[in-house]
Amino acid sequence: MSFPGLGAATGLLAASILLLVAILVSTSHYYRRRWIEAADEHRNSRELIEHLSEGIYRSSIDGRQLSANRALVKLNGYQSEAEMLPAVRDIGGEWYVEPGRRDEFRRILHSQGHVEDFVSEIYRHKTRERIWISESARVVRHKRTGKPLYYEGSVREITETVKRLKLEEHYQKLISQIPGGLFQYCRGADGSFQVLYYSDGFHKLTGVPRGAEASDAGAFTKLILPEDLDGYYQSLRECHREFKYWDHEFRIRMPDGAEKWLRASAAPERVGNTIVWHGYASDISLRKRQEIKIKELAYFDPLTHLPNRRALLDRLGETLKRTQESGRRGALLFIDLDNFKSLNDSQGHDVGDAYLVQVAQRLSACVEDGDHVARIGGDEFVVCIDDAGATEAEAAQRADRTAEAVLRELARPHRMGAVEHQASASVGVVVFDGNEPRVDEVLKRADIAMYRAKASGRNAFAVFDPAATRREQDQFRLHADLRSAIAGDQLQLHFQPQVDHFGRIVSAEALLRWYHPVKGLITPDRFIPLAERSGLINDLGRVVLAKGLATLAGWQADPDTAHLRLSINISVKSFGNPDFVPHLRRLIDEHRVDASKLMLEFTEHVMAENQDATAERMHKLKELGICFSLDDFGTGYSSLAYLRQMPFDEVKIDGSFVADIETKENDRALVRTILAMADTLGLAAVAEHVETPQQEALLRTLGCRMFQGYLYAPSLPADEFLLRAKAMPSLGPAAEVLRRSA
Ligand code: C2E
Ligand code: MG
Ligand code: MG
Repeated sequence: MSFPGLGAATGLLAASILLLVAILVSTSHYYRRRWIEAADEHRNSRELIEHLSEGIYRSSIDGRQLSANRALVKLNGYQSEAEMLPAVRDIGGEWYVEPGRRDEFRRILHSQGHVEDFVSEIYRHKTRERIWISESARVVRHKRTGKPLYYEGSVREITETVKRLKLEEHYQKLISQIPGGLFQYCRGADGSFQVLYYSDGFHKLTGVPRGAEASDAGAFTKLILPEDLDGYYQSLRECHREFKYWDHEFRIRMPDGAEKWLRASAAPERVGNTIVWHGYASDISLRKRQEIKIKELAYFDPLTHLPNRRALLDRLGETLKRTQESGRRGALLFIDLDNFKSLNDSQGHDVGDAYLVQVAQRLSACVEDGDHVARIGGDEFVVCIDDAGATEAEAAQRADRTAEAVLRELARPHRMGAVEHQASASVGVVVFDGNEPRVDEVLKRADIAMYRAKASGRNAFAVFDPAATRREQDQFRLHADLRSAIAGDQLQLHFQPQVDHFGRIVSAEALLRWYHPVKGLITPDRFIPLAERSGLINDLGRVVLAKGLATLAGWQADPDTAHLRLSINISVKSFGNPDFVPHLRRLIDEHRVDASKLMLEFTEHVMAENQDATAERMHKLKELGICFSLDDFGTGYSSLAYLRQMPFDEVKIDGSFVADIETKENDRALVRTILAMADTLGLAAVAEHVETPQQEALLRTLGCRMFQGYLYAPSLPADEFLLRAKAMPSLGPAAEVLRRSA
């Protein structure tokens, strides 16, 4: 069956089907191509992502790892994504070192939709090693609902950068905190300096301005004090030449005017043909100030601000060296203030101190330019003249001039507040050249000379004299010997007869003799004055009194000699001793002697002492029957008034008048006067040092009745004296009698 309409419809249908099929086929081809293209693109992107050096991931909102590229797998310590994905269960808890870090990450992500460069410290997931990362991420949301589906993002390891930054921060902190300043200089082959680096601390320390000016080394060097600049360059040059560590101290003046002591040290490093100095500078002003203070304390007298002994010794050492080199002379004045101790004791130390300060000022003002004044002890000052002249004489003249100026200045009255002090000083002068042995020797010589000035009566200067020093040394040794002589019984009494006008030996003068084991006999002229100066006279006087009284007791025990009197010489110094009278009284009792036969001889010095006390003592002894004789009469201070007050029994006409009695009318007149005076005052008179019969004859005509001298006998040992005393006839003129008996 055929249907015309049906046929057309069927054809249309078929055509439509064919068209549809064609469309379907072509569409499917299109989509297939599109799909293939998309798959290719996807694979390409996957591969691109796989090979990126940054880690790329996708993670679930609840913290699981959905995907990770190779870089991220590696970052987490895994071999493959397949190994890693199941291992990561909770990114927040397992990955971040700081637990709250994931929450912070999510907070930013959700509020902003993305996070950029979020830096965290995390664990490398597999190895748990701590590393630093920086991540960026976004939230992927459902297109329609906007519901967050997952996160995707990138991760970059920045451990090295963080470490470097931390180190840098650490150093920056260190550099900013250390008290000094760091610097780097580069010294080019041409010798020029270039600043490579100044730390903040350096700018602060030195005041060198920051910026362009700082690269100019001159900005710093121009701060250095001109007087320290040479030393600065010299030390730098030396270290540079020897390529050695530089360490130098110098001063700078800061731009604000403040002065600072710096210590700079630097180590050199060769860089190409340049040398780079890596250094550090610090402020040592405090230490320097302390050093200066310490030096001041060590070298200066805090009261007068003059150099002290130590400083003087240093200076003198240099002066000696210079005189040695130049062949010229120097001089030293040793100044000791007279009676300083009594001012200090009576007026107090404040006045004493004020006086010392004035002395220091006057000395400094009166010495010549270039002379140095020092205070080397309580009241001891020194003036050192570096260059006193070319010759000994010239130098001595210059030193004398200064010594005179010093004495003149110090003798002017001093006023300390209400106290006026009339002072003086004793000055010892020594001139030296380069041949002088040592500094302390020079000082000692000046000291010795000063003592001589003092001994000469103060307010004087004396020049060091080696001969005088030798004499003093001899005296010193003699003094030591005398001390042992007193203890060792080397002292003996000899006796010189005194005869009356009948030629009878009626008495004897005890004269001391010292038999020194090495030097032999030493006469009293040499050791009595020494004993008086050194204070040994009391001990010595006691020896004489003991021996004298023992001898007198012996004479009195023998009827043949019981009439003899004994004269003993008494030093005024030992008579002034309060113990003298009781001591003599004890001896008299002990030896049971008739004290009326004892005569004490004083020289006229006794008149110069405290006459009242002397007279009182004499009167006390007089009560015991003791007699007194005034020795060497006519040579000293005797005044008739005193002579009358003191209970003398006898005067001894000094031997010097007797010596020339025959030739000099003056002496004769004097002897005559003395005899007349003695007669008037009821005193006996003895002529000393009678050596010739003519002298005796003349003395007799003048009225003298008692004689002593070599004409009769020198001083004799005790037994010899006794022989003579016993054998002596008792009539006729003395000389005649002696001649007959000889
Ligand atoms: P002096 O008391 O005037 O003693 C007389 C001195 O003259 C003695 O010297 C004696 O030896 C010496 N002489 C005696 N006859 C002559 C003479 O004819 N011509 C000359 N040129 N000289 C004569 P000596 O013994 O050396 O004593 C010197 C002085 O030492 C004494 O002078 C006396 O002041 C002192 N002295 C002696 N012995 C002692 C003593 O025991 N104690 C004290 N304190 N002083 C004493
Ligand atoms: Mg005498
Ligand atoms: Mg005499």
